[in-house]
Amino acid sequence: MRELNLLAPGTLRWLDRPEPKLLRDDDAIVRPFVASRCDSEWTAASSLLRVLRFCSRARLLDPVFRDAFGAPAFAGPCAVGHECVAEVVEVGPAVAAVGVGDKVVVPFTVSCGDCDYCRRGLTAKCVTARRDSGQERPLAWYGHGSPTGPYGGMVSDFFRVPYANHMLARLPHGLEPLRVAAASDNLTDGFRCVVPHLRHRPNARVLVVGGLARSVGLYAAGIAAACGAQVDYLDSSPERLAVAEALGAHPKERPGLLRFPRPSESYEVVVDASNVPAGVPFSIRSTAPGGICEVPSYHMAAYTAVPLMHMTLTDITLHVGLSHPGAILPEVLAWVHDNDFAAEKVAPEVSDFDDAPKAYGTKRVTKPVLYRAPLTRSLPTAAKY
Ligand SMILES: [Zn+2]
Ligand SMILES: [Zn+2]
Repeated sequence: MRELNLLAPGTLRWLDRPEPKLLRDDDAIVRPFVASRCDSEWTAASSLLRVLRFCSRARLLDPVFRDAFGAPAFAGPCAVGHECVAEVVEVGPAVAAVGVGDKVVVPFTVSCGDCDYCRRGLTAKCVTARRDSGQERPLAWYGHGSPTGPYGGMVSDFFRVPYANHMLARLPHGLEPLRVAAASDNLTDGFRCVVPHLRHRPNARVLVVGGLARSVGLYAAGIAAACGAQVDYLDSSPERLAVAEALGAHPKERPGLLRFPRPSESYEVVVDASNVPAGVPFSIRSTAPGGICEVPSYHMAAYTAVPLMHMTLTDITLHVGLSHPGAILPEVLAWVHDNDFAAEKVAPEVSDFDDAPKAYGTKRVTKPVLYRAPLTRSLPTAAKY
C-alpha cells in the first residue's frame, strides 16, 4: 500500500509499505478518504524545515524540541499526515464502539482513554501510549516521524488505530466529511481556544492574531463568531483576512507577518495563532484585565518574551498548551453539525488523493485537502464544494 513520506525538506513521495495488521484486540484498521494538511506540516514540507534543523543544531530551540521530534527533526523518510476522516475496514474482537463501514475522525494524538491523564482530558499526554514501546516518549502522535511513535501517517491507503473504542469518533449523521477534514487537529484546536471561554463570557470581544498557524486562527475566529462573539481577526495575508470575514469576523490588516501595531484595544479572549515571536507580547498586551490569552502556536525558541509585569497588573490568564482532540472530538463534531458551521471555507481547495505529493507540498494554499471516494458510497462527493 502507499504511504506519503517526507524524504527531505520540500520533497514528498508515495512509498510502498506493508499493509497494517491488527496487533491487539482493541485495534482497528481504517482507510482515510479525506485528509488535510496541518499548519505545522506546511513548515515541515518547505525549506523552513532546514532553518528549524539549523536552529535545533545550534541549540537555539528549546531542548524539548529535540526530545520530541528527534535530531534532525522529521528525518526522512518520515510518514506525514495527521488529519483525516476515514472508513473503518477491520476491527479487533474487543472493539465495540465502531464497526466496519463506519465513518470516523481519528485524533492526531494517540491515547488510551483510561490512564490518569486521559481521565483528566489531557489525552495528548496519555502515558499509556507514550510508554507503549517500553520507553517513555514526550509525545505519541501520528505523522511526526519515529520519535513520536510507530503509528505512521494518515495520508496512506490504510493505517492502524490502537485503543479504537476510545480513539475513533463517529461522524454525526448528515455531517459532510469535507467539512470536518481538519477535526483531527486544527479545527479542534481552534474550537478549544474559544468555546470553553465564551461559555462564561457570551458577549466577549475576541481577538484572533493570525499568521503561521494559518488554519487554527481562522477556525478559532469563525467558531467564536458563530458563538455570537464580536471577533477581530488581525493578519497580514489578504487571503486569510477574506476567509475570516466570510466566517463572520471583522478583518484587521497588520503591516507584515513579523510586524505588529502598538496594542491599542483590549479583548476578553485573545488567541495568538501568529506563530511568530512578536505575537506573544502583542497578544498579552491586547488582553483585557481578567481576560484569557490562548497560545495554540508553537514558539520553539529557547527563550520567549513574556511581559510578566504587564500580566501582573492586568491579572490575565495565559494558557499555553496542547490540543487534546481525543477528549473533545465528539463534542466538536456535534457542534459543527448542530451549528451548520461552514468550516470548509478555510480549506476549499480539494485535490485527488492520488495527487497527495504535489497537493501537500504546495505553499500557495492555506490548507490543501485530499479526497477519494469511500468504499461505501452513502456519502456526498467532493463536487459539493
Ligand atoms: Zn498538527
Ligand atoms: Zn491514556
